Amino acid sequence: MPKWPGNSKYVKKLNRMTVLNIIKDNESISRQQLARMTGLTPPAITQIIRELINMGFVKEVGLEKSCGGRRPVQLQFNPEAGFVLGLEVTRHETTLGIADLKNHPTDIRTFELDMTDPEAGIHQLSETIRQVINNSKYRDKKFLGLGVAFPGLLNLKEGIVKRSINLGPKWNGFPVKSAIEREIGLPVYIENNSNASALAERWFGGGNDCTDLVYINLGEGISAGIIMDDRILQGFQGHAGEIGHIVMVEGGPLCNCGNRGCMESICGIPAIVRKAVSEMPFIKEGDPLKEIWKINGKISINDILKSASIEGTYSNELLKQMGKYVGLAVADVINLYNPGAVFIGGKMAKAAEVFMDILKQTVNSHAFPEIAGSTEIKLSALDGNSGVIGACALALRELLKPNSSILEDMQAYADK
Ligand SMILES: [Zn+2]
Repeated sequence: MPKWPGNSKYVKKLNRMTVLNIIKDNESISRQQLARMTGLTPPAITQIIRELINMGFVKEVGLEKSCGGRRPVQLQFNPEAGFVLGLEVTRHETTLGIADLKNHPTDIRTFELDMTDPEAGIHQLSETIRQVINNSKYRDKKFLGLGVAFPGLLNLKEGIVKRSINLGPKWNGFPVKSAIEREIGLPVYIENNSNASALAERWFGGGNDCTDLVYINLGEGISAGIIMDDRILQGFQGHAGEIGHIVMVEGGPLCNCGNRGCMESICGIPAIVRKAVSEMPFIKEGDPLKEIWKINGKISINDILKSASIEGTYSNELLKQMGKYVGLAVADVINLYNPGAVFIGGKMAKAAEVFMDILKQTVNSHAFPEIAGSTEIKLSALDGNSGVIGACALALRELLKPNSSILEDMQAYADK
């Protein structure tokens, strides 16, 4: 534990947060154990615990099983001392999650909201949030922060949107963090949606024992969130992880980014639908996708996902081809970052049973065997909610980090 003379306030802050996090990460613990683990003196621990109990973060519970001598009182973290909100914003739907200070969000709801205009969208969104948290279920709860999983390039330092292809050009340059803070009155933490999803895997998904992981979102767009050494890999300007724009076919289809042949221009949802439509004349009669086309005169990605589960259909082949391309990109990711796990998520992951085998085969024949052999490739188990779950995790991570001001804020709140 750092002890710097002359900065006792800061040391006190770090000590309190360290003690709080140790209690949170243990089922139950005694003051004596805390003193041993932190190197703090028993009176210092007693003082910190008194404060944490007064703030509601820690409670005393039963007695430790006796092994001779005096039996010390056990301490437990109280996850319901505070709550966080998480938001996943997309163009027409926003998902709100509510979580206590330790557990997977239990309350997740989706609202139809038009978010193409930032001012109007955030105003409506804030109204919706206020309605939810003023409801009797949450009225007496303390909300401490709000995380946002946002679809676009962000200036994280200033909380400004650089560009969002998903939400549209009105968001360019919009100060999203301060706008939501002003409306809701809570600290707001923001990340792009793929990074938030990676964080969701780390905190609440299949990656809770893995400090180095990659989450790949296969949806309308394709992007990755990369966690290395337990930190989100941001890159120089915070834009690392644009895996969808790895060039796979020189001079290939035109991509949203203006380049040609990017993975997104081949494996993104619009690209897959476009390919199926263009090849419709060559799809054999009786194929389920062709039948839908004949009846409706159009097809959607849901039609492709549904018919892909039948072996031998056009959609099945199409998604296997996609799996091959995704496998090439995953092989690159594995060679570059040596992650412990790669999670495949996003809407296309619904058909993972169709393309996962070929994806893994492609990885095995293109990544270094020594590296690939130690990387698990898994389907995200967060049921399409990884963005909103990650938004909650983001708020929790910020509120509980070593130099967080959560305890000072709580004290100020109590003193009011
Ligand atoms: Zn591109």
